[in-house]
Amino acid sequence: MQHERDMEAIQNKMRSRKEIKVEAAKAANPAHHERVYDNPLVQCAKCLGFGHTKAVCGEKTATCSYCADKTHEWEKCPRRKQNEEPKCKNCWENGIKTEANHEAFSNKCKVRQKWDEIARSRIAYC
Ligand SMILES: [Zn+2]
Ligand SMILES: [Zn+2]
Ligand SMILES: [Zn+2]
Repeated sequence: MQHERDMEAIQNKMRSRKEIKVEAAKAANPAHHERVYDNPLVQCAKCLGFGHTKAVCGEKTATCSYCADKTHEWEKCPRRKQNEEPKCKNCWENGIKTEANHEAFSNKCKVRQKWDEIARSRIAYC
């Protein structure tokens, strides 16, 4: 018993303040915490923009995440069915046209990577 208590004391000492804070947040709202901690980045499924969800999206029509066309959605994308190269709306609009050959939700996306970084740094400093 004594040994166990000693181990616990050492483990407690090893924990940083931050870790304790994270654990407190986890206990308060485990589902929310897990979602945020895994990937803090929020990307809209409708307009493919960042920082908001489709529930609060201001766009009326959805944009295809495969080819950036507004006349259809990903499920019905003719270019995807033809195995044509994808075109990322966010890279295209940000002038990264030569490297826009990926889907809007792809990890290869430069714009997405930038937002991902911002989202993660916000978590770390709050
Ligand atoms: Zn949106
Ligand atoms: Zn499409
Ligand atoms: Zn992109």
